Amino acid sequence: MSHPQDSVHEHSIRDPESFWGHHAQSLHWHKQPSRVLDLSTKTLSASGITHDHWRWFPDGELSTTYNCVDRHVENGNGDNVAIVWESSVTGVRESYTYRQVQDEIEVLAGVLREEGVRKGDVVIIYMPMIPAALFAALAIARLGAIHAAVFGGFAAASLAQRIEDAKPRAIMTASCGIEGSKGPLSYRPLVEGAINQSKFKPDKVIIWQRDELRWNHPDKLGGQRNWQRIVKSGRMRGIRAAPVVVNSNDGLYIIYTSGTTGLPKGVVREAGGHAVGLSLSIKYLFGIKGPGDVMFCASDIGWVVGHSYILYAPLLVGATTILYEGKPVGTPDAGEFWRVIEKNKANVLFTAPTALRAMRKDDPESKLLTEIGARGGLKSLKALFLAGERSEPSIVRTFQDLLTSHAAPGATVIDNWWSSESGSPISGLSLLSELGYLTDPSSSTAVTPLPIRPGSAGKPMPGFDVRIVDDDGNEVPRGTMGNVVMAIPLAPTAFTTLFNDEERFYKGYLKRFNGRWVDTGDAGLIDQDGYVHIMSRSDDIINVAAHRFSTGAIEQVILSHPDIGEASVVGIPDSLKGHLPFAFIQPRNPGSGELPATASPELFNAVNKLVREQIGAIASLGGMIQGRGMIPKTRSGKTLRRVLRELVENAVVKGDYTAAVNVPPTVEDAEVVEVARARVREYFQSRKGESGVKAKL
Ligand code: AMP
Repeated sequence: MSHPQDSVHEHSIRDPESFWGHHAQSLHWHKQPSRVLDLSTKTLSASGITHDHWRWFPDGELSTTYNCVDRHVENGNGDNVAIVWESSVTGVRESYTYRQVQDEIEVLAGVLREEGVRKGDVVIIYMPMIPAALFAALAIARLGAIHAAVFGGFAAASLAQRIEDAKPRAIMTASCGIEGSKGPLSYRPLVEGAINQSKFKPDKVIIWQRDELRWNHPDKLGGQRNWQRIVKSGRMRGIRAAPVVVNSNDGLYIIYTSGTTGLPKGVVREAGGHAVGLSLSIKYLFGIKGPGDVMFCASDIGWVVGHSYILYAPLLVGATTILYEGKPVGTPDAGEFWRVIEKNKANVLFTAPTALRAMRKDDPESKLLTEIGARGGLKSLKALFLAGERSEPSIVRTFQDLLTSHAAPGATVIDNWWSSESGSPISGLSLLSELGYLTDPSSSTAVTPLPIRPGSAGKPMPGFDVRIVDDDGNEVPRGTMGNVVMAIPLAPTAFTTLFNDEERFYKGYLKRFNGRWVDTGDAGLIDQDGYVHIMSRSDDIINVAAHRFSTGAIEQVILSHPDIGEASVVGIPDSLKGHLPFAFIQPRNPGSGELPATASPELFNAVNKLVREQIGAIASLGGMIQGRGMIPKTRSGKTLRRVLRELVENAVVKGDYTAAVNVPPTVEDAEVVEVARARVREYFQSRKGESGVKAKL
């Protein structure tokens, strides 16, 4: 007999109409959808290509905000706690009931309407992790407008790109963010710098003033508004907005993700599918069912995980969500996550493996966690979810042992794989024991979840039909590595297009396999028991501390330095962050004299400064090799980054400078690979005794 997780998945793929139609009933629809799924075709205007397309709940109408907030108040749950803000960087804790959240967002939405925001408009959110950021998203959605959150503190150039693409009516921001223990970071130069750089200018900039660092004298004539002041005035005048109902396929939000060309891609989340899919996943996968359950997702609202599991999913089911401002370590130490769990009796922690690695670095024996565990502080915790990048088996095992000793009976570490595009986990292991009703509504019998398998990201979640194929799109036998793809339709939380760019959607996701599969861009395998293992990106997007960066975008920035003629960036393994960007550069005028593999500190610092300013500090380079004629290419001119990466990996991981690397037959000049090899050896050997190098690389 198959395990219930397998039969639930099989049902969702075999008969999506009955599966999702049933789950759609957990929401309030202002107009019930008459159909669950519409499979049709779409034609691209520029090229005339026709491809398969799908829509969920096509004629349904709803309000996500109503479902997240008002509905719970009307059902008598208004006094339940909706949001707890734990700010370990300011030492402040605040808590808001559903009724208080409703009051905040009714007024804020009314005020935004006065400032000109209408249904269908885009509003950018560029905020730190404070309650106002969540109120902003809910208020924008309340008006039927579309939010586009950009990670607070992102460089002005990155924000400018997103402003140009999204063409927002307004930007909602704050006077500062507080980055760990470094103190306040003023957002003003970043926001104003971005608007100056962008061809498109938003009408309004709405500024939440934080006491730690104010945005002095907002430029009123330039459309800058003091958030607290306009809300106070709106409240006094009784300005409030009721939820605006939208079509199921209208956009709720846009989230930008890095593209291979360096230009960000605007992933669009549709209102109806998102609400249905998330309501299911938070219960089925995370075991958070409703009032009384507490979710602690330690992500950022700039990332998709934050959208789904800090904000929308917990509120959709009426649970309590914890909004955390701080870091996993250093604010003040590696025990803070566990203290937040203890204080709030959280049932689930969701974080990235990089956070756990950072904790292990600061507290190698997990003394802080153990101390809290020993006094019974973690008994509420049922699961630790990990996503964003691959969790190596050792980190899963370490924390599984800690959970077994200190958390709730049966608590598990659950690696789950997903992307901005999917909107919710594509694979994971469901806490089925929490969910008798899915398998047998009349039974409350606990079902034992599938066992975890460290190194694997679990099994496919409902609605995601995951396959492994070769480069021609043919399925490979179980256990074989290949391209990870999905069949159409994707589950309801997933995107169906890119913002204003159907052509790029087709080219980026469907074209590679002629429209037969949706390309996830990941490489991996499905083992004999159906567990999915995600090994790496199949292209060259690198994952630094669970944040995705395109090597192309970093190269572009490096090349903006006047002395650099050619650049190639690869990801190199880093024990803490997963990967670090590592650059190969050729000077613009290399001359013919001696050219050491290690560039001058001046050049390295200047290049790194550009990367930090234009991409973000998190993308700081892990190293840089200079040389002449050392970047291998294919005959068609494509840089063979993979070859460079292998050379560096062999050097860093094994200290081996002679190991064979996989050079494809399409290489233009194999000699170039040997030049690169010699440079890699010179670079790492010359740095050997240097303090810090080993730790960094
Ligand atoms: P993003 O769109 O920024 O969330 O990045 C999505 C990418 O992160 C995926 O395509 C994977 O390459 C990677 N990723 C996310 N979660 C996992 C996981 N649990 N295991 C392996 N890779 C993951």
